[in-house]
Amino acid sequence: MDLEVKVWRGGEQGAFATYQVRREESQTVLDVVVYIQRHLDPSLSYRYACRVGMCGSCAMSVNGVARWTCRTHVSKVAAGGSLEIAPLPNFPVIKDLAIDMRGFFDKWARARGQFQGATTRHDDFARVEPGSKERRAADAGVECIGCGICHASCDVVSWRPGFLGPAALNRAWTLVNDVRDTQQAARLRAVAGIAGCHACHTQGSCTERCPKQLAPTTAIAGLKRLAARAAVRGKL
Ligand code: SF4
Repeated sequence: MDLEVKVWRGGEQGAFATYQVRREESQTVLDVVVYIQRHLDPSLSYRYACRVGMCGSCAMSVNGVARWTCRTHVSKVAAGGSLEIAPLPNFPVIKDLAIDMRGFFDKWARARGQFQGATTRHDDFARVEPGSKERRAADAGVECIGCGICHASCDVVSWRPGFLGPAALNRAWTLVNDVRDTQQAARLRAVAGIAGCHACHTQGSCTERCPKQLAPTTAIAGLKRLAARAAVRGKL
């Protein structure tokens, strides 16, 4: 049996093109996209690298839901034998399925998503208790692969493009809980406010869709708590 596959072609003003692709056992959505590019239309643009759920670069919208395509089996999503594959929402389209992620990672920088410690290579390494509250909170969010699925699934990002979004805030939360980092006050100021954690409506789409089973909603709630505490103490 063939699959009927609609694939977005062009930029923001493009349109769907339809292809017929043979069904295979254990076929993933990325397999389908690769087949189209290699056998039906070599001009199709898209991104992937690892094919094993580590790099996060193959995320696309599949039948209206943002997913990592290398780990999404066709049998799970192709209701009635058809697929509609589009670029991730909430990102500018470069061409076809390739999106521009510069704004997404700029938000990580705005949220002070870089570690900044106080030690040098000549100092002894820091010891952080694995069971400490801060270490467990950081561990819960640190496996982010930067796929953008949470960002694409967030209604607040759609309404308010300046919102830092779940991935950048999740990254900030892991660093807020890093006891070696020296930028805590500045980071909290960067993520508080209406473009930061306070814009979140706690709808939870980010947490529902994250392929790494992270919970940006919990991270954002943690940032709200810390920001409120800092504001009460006059430290924001
Ligand atoms: Fe992807 Fe999850 Fe990281 Fe969001 S938090 S970028 S969905 S891995």
